[in-house]
Amino acid sequence: MTIYRATVLDTPGDLPTADGLRVSEDCGLVVKDGTITFRDDFPAVRAAFPDEQVVDLRGGVLLPGFVDTHVHYPQVRVVGGLGRPLLDWLRECALPEELALSDPVYARGVARDFLAGLVHAGTTTALVFGSHFPDAVDALFAEAETVGLRITAGLVVSDRLLAPGLHTTPATALREGKALVDRWHGRGRLRYAVSPRFSLSASDAMLESCAALMETAPDLWFTSHLNENLDEIEHVRRLFPSAENYLSTYGRHGLVTGRSVLAHDVHPSAAELEMLAGAGAAVAHCPSSNSALGSGLFPLRAHLDAGVRVALGTDVGAGTGFSLLKEGLQAYFVQQLLDGGVALTPAHLLHLATRSGALALGLGDQVGDLSVGRQFDAVRLHPQPGSTLDVALRHPKDATDALAKIFTLGTPADIDVVRVAGQVVTAPAQLSLDGSLSPMETR
Ligand SMILES: [Zn+2]
Repeated sequence: MTIYRATVLDTPGDLPTADGLRVSEDCGLVVKDGTITFRDDFPAVRAAFPDEQVVDLRGGVLLPGFVDTHVHYPQVRVVGGLGRPLLDWLRECALPEELALSDPVYARGVARDFLAGLVHAGTTTALVFGSHFPDAVDALFAEAETVGLRITAGLVVSDRLLAPGLHTTPATALREGKALVDRWHGRGRLRYAVSPRFSLSASDAMLESCAALMETAPDLWFTSHLNENLDEIEHVRRLFPSAENYLSTYGRHGLVTGRSVLAHDVHPSAAELEMLAGAGAAVAHCPSSNSALGSGLFPLRAHLDAGVRVALGTDVGAGTGFSLLKEGLQAYFVQQLLDGGVALTPAHLLHLATRSGALALGLGDQVGDLSVGRQFDAVRLHPQPGSTLDVALRHPKDATDALAKIFTLGTPADIDVVRVAGQVVTAPAQLSLDGSLSPMETR
């Protein structure tokens, strides 16, 4: 048993009602076997547990570990392909790199780079869009198990309109997916997500094989893309002339449920929002990616009014890095620019970056805030002395003001310790091109 002493900010409530920032200036968290078993002001905790070890985390701010609900593992090395809309960006930036992951050694290096990005950003839980190659997905799960993050991921499948090297058949997709499910789903902190890339690249036969894979084990997750870009939506409409809308291309195969997370949904119809809400499916809002690709301004108000659960995703390849702080700030910008946008508060941003993600991934009873009963997944923000964030945090009006400063100025460089279930997690070393650790890293 360990007592952690820190200034703690978290948002244990529900998003639409949250100004619910919980502030504990001098908090004591009692952690046993990775779970928070008691929480109170530190003097009360010390009195109740006078002999237990205390880890003093004061001097910064302790937040729940961040939750990223949409992030592409193969794209970590191609961030920054500016100047293209979605379909051009896919063809020129993303897909050539995704093909490179057919080499398992290359894929292992990318997996390590990717997981390092998550750890440095303080992301402790993520729904990860995997690779088109089973060995590459295997490498991601294996490396994630070593690092200790909570990862849900799967084999990405498509059978048309990408690059031929990325295509598979429905039967092969089912067989390879089943093998990965058997090996990784429910193992430690890992879960499997059935992942057709998007309807544009997945025929009805492929989506039917995804539905068949969903039946092979309990509690599998489903993730894909939805309504990101107007050209994409028009392509999907032509490819599925009998479908009521984009969402129903998934829905009519039984793929839209309470264990589904659809990325983007920048251009939803009212019928789609109603269907998402009715199913209990969640939307991963990726504001940096939407801005970089010019996809549009996310209608958060319409989602919330319809009762659709929304969380944040960094997307990464088309986005601007792994930081959920930056993603929260960009979500705020988008709503400021949007006629009828939601006036997001700092508490909203923290909720979107933590508890909203946990709820979207069905992990709301385990992570996302620092209440009794949750896993102790936490990040400490401790900015470099003299940095602008350090200066700003020395002079906040109150905790809400401090949190606003954290989202405005915070970067991965300000995160000094990341814990999952109480254990400190560290980023894996990079691999050199032949798959060995580089000399510097083996010292
Ligand atoms: Zn994506």
